[in-house]
Amino acid sequence: MKFVSLGSGSSGNCYFLCTAQTSILIDAGVGARTMRRYFRDLGMQMGGLDAVFITHDHADHIKAVATFANEFNIPLYTTEKVYHGITRNYAVSGRIAPEKMRFLQKTVGVTVGDLTVTPFEVPHDSTDCVGYRVEHGGITFCLITDVGHATPTIEQEVARANYLVLEANHDEDMLNMGPYPAYLKGRIKSDKGHLSNKSAATLLAKHATPALHHVWLCHLSEENNHPELARKTVESILQSYGIQPGTDFKIEILKRKTPSEVYELNEN
Ligand SMILES: [Zn+2]
Ligand SMILES: [Zn+2]
Repeated sequence: MKFVSLGSGSSGNCYFLCTAQTSILIDAGVGARTMRRYFRDLGMQMGGLDAVFITHDHADHIKAVATFANEFNIPLYTTEKVYHGITRNYAVSGRIAPEKMRFLQKTVGVTVGDLTVTPFEVPHDSTDCVGYRVEHGGITFCLITDVGHATPTIEQEVARANYLVLEANHDEDMLNMGPYPAYLKGRIKSDKGHLSNKSAATLLAKHATPALHHVWLCHLSEENNHPELARKTVESILQSYGIQPGTDFKIEILKRKTPSEVYELNEN
């Protein structure tokens, strides 16, 4: 299996996964024109995707969904609630007919080609929100973004993952002292907002298992975080739990506006 991040953060989230047979996106929050260029650079066709999975109906996750559904006829997978949220969102140009949709039930896996994709509940202030577990052969990849707080479900998914994309949205001090108005700070910090560097680190420290190979920190805030600060905070908390970052598992920070390298995900 291969993984590429095409964008991560409030200006657009989009994650690509493929095997020799199957290719999917999780979220399509990068504009269609930019996406077209990224696909060309990867030697892929946007219309060649087998499915687009959506986590939730915030603009930074769904900007290009109508292009995939209407122009390329690619089935969109999400919960029925998220779909209704999308239909009310002005960031989405064009209506998406219900026939293009495949509605998901949380915890019930679906098969797309040789991938099994299972949505699970994530607390966030959207109409509804899910994370995804993607399984292929003996590999388990989990994506958990836009997370107000860690729940037992999320802890279980972290414990299951060999490869994990996890939100590290903000540094708590930067957010508190930063320029955001009080209501927005409150929203971000709430248990339906976003995960801080510290909360992401604690979740990892307590629930990662030796089966975890690689973690990518995602959805970093431009105003309230910094890639090196996120890395330092997470690494020092892991070390305080006796975990050696880089040795026990790799940690990388996903860039906000540029695609990552193409990562090969292997069983060992
Ligand atoms: Zn969101
Ligand atoms: Zn978001």
